[in-house]
Amino acid sequence: MTLKLSDIPGHEGFAAPVLPDGTLARSSGAFTRAFIGYQGACSCGWSDRRRFPPTPEGAKDAEGRWYEHAKPLLLAAPPNWLVVKSNLLCEQIVNLAGERPLAALTLLAQVESWQRTLLDQAVTSARAAGASWAEVGEAMGVSKQAAHERFRDA
Ligand SMILES: [Zn+2]
Repeated sequence: MTLKLSDIPGHEGFAAPVLPDGTLARSSGAFTRAFIGYQGACSCGWSDRRRFPPTPEGAKDAEGRWYEHAKPLLLAAPPNWLVVKSNLLCEQIVNLAGERPLAALTLLAQVESWQRTLLDQAVTSARAAGASWAEVGEAMGVSKQAAHERFRDA
């Protein structure tokens, strides 16, 4: 069984069979070779250190460990439905800029004004909730130094 959450594409969790030499099989499907246990693993390359028995219950427990890997990723991932809306808005503004560039400029100026305010609020909330500058930077795709320099006075 694979575990997936639509908000974190690229992370599919599974119970990886542990081979006799200690290495992990990279999938859970139709496994027939001898194995000595299960460890939680993810399609991104993450694997859990904790080993569970080679039983159906062990597989379930190993899968359960994937949620510990997924939880912080989910906290930093925007909901998929909102990403879809954001991409659609971007696409529609591109079209508007082609057809009526002055109207697109008016709209983009509005977006920029609320975007800056919301960005400051989100950084303040993340910091108040205990996020480090490294986590803030990672969520925005910039370095921790860049995030700190830009928002330290927010
Ligand atoms: Zn992963």
